[in-house]
Amino acid sequence: MIDRIESAMINVTRTYLPDRIKLDKYIDKIYSSAWVTNNGQLVQELTRRLEEFLNVQNLLLVSNGTLALQVAYRVLGIKRQVITTPFSFVATTSTLVWEKLEPVFVDIDPETFCIDPSRIEGSITPETTAIVPVHVFGNACDVEKIERIAQKHGLKTIYDGAHAFGVRYKGESLLSYGDAATLSFHATKLFHTIEGGAIVFKRKKDLEKARLMVNFGIDGPDSVVELGINAKMNEFQAAMGLCVLDEIETIFEQRCELWSYYQDSLKDHVRFQKRNCQCTNNYSYFPVLFENEKKLIEVKKALTAVDINPRRYFYPSLDTLGYLQPQFMQAVSRDIASRILCLPIYPGLSTDEIRKIITILICVQNYALARSS
Ligand SMILES: *Cc1c(COP(=O)(O)O)cnc(C)c1O
Repeated sequence: MIDRIESAMINVTRTYLPDRIKLDKYIDKIYSSAWVTNNGQLVQELTRRLEEFLNVQNLLLVSNGTLALQVAYRVLGIKRQVITTPFSFVATTSTLVWEKLEPVFVDIDPETFCIDPSRIEGSITPETTAIVPVHVFGNACDVEKIERIAQKHGLKTIYDGAHAFGVRYKGESLLSYGDAATLSFHATKLFHTIEGGAIVFKRKKDLEKARLMVNFGIDGPDSVVELGINAKMNEFQAAMGLCVLDEIETIFEQRCELWSYYQDSLKDHVRFQKRNCQCTNNYSYFPVLFENEKKLIEVKKALTAVDINPRRYFYPSLDTLGYLQPQFMQAVSRDIASRILCLPIYPGLSTDEIRKIITILICVQNYALARSS
């Protein structure tokens, strides 16, 4: 039996709140200039610092990771059909539908959980204009194969890199692959600006076009040159980002410690995502795969009973979304989605707390095993 221990709720993540005194100093700056948005000082400073930290060029800050994707599709002139993965957060698909594009799902690899490149070519039609893969849980897609296919068929690639902050692939930024890669800086993400996001473009001309597009297409006091939208990041968001970025190394270290602890303790009990051995880990999520959905539900129920809230990332598989045209069933994605659970991982999660999570998970697993044999 597991005793109910009174403690604060533990969620899959907890928003990282940086040093308050430092944040106040940035906010003082905003107050003294009274410049709160429209490419202000802090947005410019954060842009420079992120380009340096991530080792990328042509980075544009935007108001969130969803608009980052939508603006990227527009800038790159994506039309009609887009090949994408069914195993991701809903925004990867919903942004396509919102832009009147047709998502064409290609199933994932059962080990890496990323789009299976060997299935892409079979889904290309004369209508296909782009591929939108996801570096899911910060695990690098097979970028080389994907880029080769895209080049051969004249397709654009936009990587949804919402989970890939700081990940390096063969020593370079993973975000430097593709015509564009997008980031989300939502409060639940590893690095955040409360709400926010960014697009990293391969080409400077695309960055320049996007810069106009996120500000209504306005290029001067009396001049509108593009169809645009409002997708600007504001100064308060940038202030938060600058403060979190100052503490990013500690964030990585603490996450790494928790991640390794989970990995060591659970390796004989559940399956893990197979990570691309050419990329670094940013420890943004700790997904575990159960033998079947029933076990997942039992473990989740036992954890929820003591106010521990892991999340079913990503469930349901996106090919089941009700607003889509009938889809081919994505069997691997549906199977993985039905039995994957992300465990709490964030700086500040204590050793006692992580031990409790591990103990409950193992106990419930073994109990289920004893009953079924
Ligand atoms: C979080 C997330 C998004 C959306 O980003 P927001 O900043 O919340 O709009 C898009 N794709 C993936 C894979 C995500 O995890």
